[in-house]
Amino acid sequence: MKKVGVLALQGDFEAHQKALQRAGAEVVLVRTAEQLESVNGLVIPGGESTTMLKLLDAEGLTEPLRRFGRHKPIFGTCAGAILVAAKVVNPEQESLGLVDIEVERNAYGRQLDSHVTRLHAAAPLDGDIEAVFIRAPVILHVGPGVRVLATHRDHPVLVEQGRHLVATFHPELTTDASLHKLFLDKVGNGNR
Ligand code: GLN
Repeated sequence: MKKVGVLALQGDFEAHQKALQRAGAEVVLVRTAEQLESVNGLVIPGGESTTMLKLLDAEGLTEPLRRFGRHKPIFGTCAGAILVAAKVVNPEQESLGLVDIEVERNAYGRQLDSHVTRLHAAAPLDGDIEAVFIRAPVILHVGPGVRVLATHRDHPVLVEQGRHLVATFHPELTTDASLHKLFLDKVGNGNR
């Protein structure tokens, strides 16, 4: 069974834990550098990215997380997408710089603050997914190494770069575990 973590400092981590378990993984809620070392992939959930940044610093997890992301897969969703981005604008904010995307926080404006829609996702998913957006960031630019798997209103909302996966919406809030399965396909078994 693949062993993956969910960053559990703040936000929507329990729903991710359940979704990953449904997708067939053993899940560790990660709150320390030791717990981070014990897993082969990590989900960074939605929540409030500014709060998460503060908690990461307070727990001494910022650098361990950057190192982790250089070797192992991370799935960043919503606030997690903001954390893994190379650049955050409007206002600028610190990030882990693991995925070559530029994002703007809370960029959908009031009317679209929170909404649900169906999207088509490219291969390997090659099917429709339900996307729940909650005060979501917008991906303004992607670098050349980034593959866009789904777009919404002319912006990428699901992208991958090598081992990493990013969604600006909340895949853990639907019953469809296909994105969690896609992420698990990127995670190794931990046999070295
Ligand atoms: N608006 C939040 C932020 O900027 C993200 C929202 C979410 O994760 N649902 O961090």
